[in-house]
Amino acid sequence: MIEVENLVKWYGQTLAVDNLNFTIPRGQIVGFLGPNGAGKTTTLRMLTGYLPPTSGRVTLDGHDVLTDSLRARAKIGYLPESTPLYPEMRVEEYLHYRGKLHRMDRDTRRRRIDTVCDQCGLAQVRRRLIGQLSKGNKQRVGLAQAMLHEPPVLILDEPTAGLDPNQITHVRELIDQLRGEHTIILSTHILPEVERLADRLMVIAGGAIVAQGTPEELRSSVSAGSRILIEVNAQPQDVSKALGQVSGVKQVETATNDGWCRATVTPKDNADPREAIGQTALHHGWTVREMRYETASLEQFFVQVTAQQGRAATEDAA
Ligand code: ATP
Repeated sequence: MIEVENLVKWYGQTLAVDNLNFTIPRGQIVGFLGPNGAGKTTTLRMLTGYLPPTSGRVTLDGHDVLTDSLRARAKIGYLPESTPLYPEMRVEEYLHYRGKLHRMDRDTRRRRIDTVCDQCGLAQVRRRLIGQLSKGNKQRVGLAQAMLHEPPVLILDEPTAGLDPNQITHVRELIDQLRGEHTIILSTHILPEVERLADRLMVIAGGAIVAQGTPEELRSSVSAGSRILIEVNAQPQDVSKALGQVSGVKQVETATNDGWCRATVTPKDNADPREAIGQTALHHGWTVREMRYETASLEQFFVQVTAQQGRAATEDAA
């Protein structure tokens, strides 16, 4: 279990991480989301113990990552944003070197290198020089080194950055296979990448958590929410009045489109008035040219919360 308490990081005058508090239980996959400069990398580096916080602390199964760093680090596999690989080393050679740093004996190293090379799809290239590998394969080597010492926690900073769609799918499948075995924290600014993968999402902007929950919870808390669009052959004021009286309808906006009335209906929280709207149209004898239900995507939510945070920061500064 990872526990983060009052974590703060200043770089000179820049507040990169602003008093973070959260707990991640064993076995969860957590997506850390935020725009560029949100503070994701800084937070992940503090979680791994590579960067000391200005204040606050991080513990891993009770071990402080700074004061008990050997024990804490043994439990963490870290894929940094830009993996420091050695281009002149062969893949196997590099993994042996990493294994030695973790004080793994030769037999264990051999066994684990076979396993991680298979898991990460590196079996064909394990004798190649790292410098000659494609970006996708280099990223797999980074993942393989993070998993080598069987750490219960994996911290992956933008694991799919710069990869092509096939490689992204492969990395995503790999992370999915590790589900249950590991606690995984991964950062990204690409939402669809973690929408299906993560058990929980934390949206970070301006160094603070601006929203968190399961992808489902976040989706249902989008205030711009879902909307129903309907086009009928009736007068806009009649449509507004009739639909405004339907139970579960919060707001109706109408416009005229080529002689048709186009109504945009916002439901009340958790209400789904589609059936009642259909019945109302039938009751008034309207011809329905189109009816569409638009659900809010997590993408919209993400843009909305991070934009709100940006506005708040601008107002604070004014
Ligand atoms: P990205 O997705 O672009 O990597 P991020 O969410 O990981 O962004 P961080 O790299 O953690 O964000 O940066 C958070 C803030 O701290 C930014 O304003 C950044 O400019 C600043 N920052 C990061 N590293 C340093 C540093 N070494 N010195 C000074 N400022 C820094």
